[in-house]
Amino acid sequence: MARPPVLKANVSFDLKTMPTSDTACPCGSSHTYGECCEPYHTEAAQAPTAVALMRSRYCAYVVGAIDYLVATTLPAVRRTDLWIDYQNTHKTIEWIGLEILNTWQGGEGDKTGKVEFRATYIQGDRRAVHHEHSRFRRHSGAWCYVDGVITDTATR
Ligand SMILES: [Zn+2]
Repeated sequence: MARPPVLKANVSFDLKTMPTSDTACPCGSSHTYGECCEPYHTEAAQAPTAVALMRSRYCAYVVGAIDYLVATTLPAVRRTDLWIDYQNTHKTIEWIGLEILNTWQGGEGDKTGKVEFRATYIQGDRRAVHHEHSRFRRHSGAWCYVDGVITDTATR
């Protein structure tokens, strides 16, 4: 039974690409959106590990959960134009796949963690792979994105 997603009024989902609670989660896990990233996007739960946060942030780019992307960026590194940047990325890039390659720490008992991933996307007529080693840190108990070393490679 489909239930309407529970959203904060200021969560800006793009209805065109938005999954429902019962459809496959865009992060590519074998779970439904409702059993995977949605509870994090709606703040019903907190991502328990760095890799769960990473997946939910990828998924937030797909569905346009811009407030979530800002909220899960470490406050110390939040630029004033961050919301606009995330929004622009969401509007101009079509994310088509996520592959987690490696994780270091980032577990339930850790304070820091790293995740290496490859995300495939289409921007205009260009298909490319975003390969990143991301750093995560807990802030007030919640996992936050700190920064990453990024390599973008056009694949056609
Ligand atoms: Zn997910």
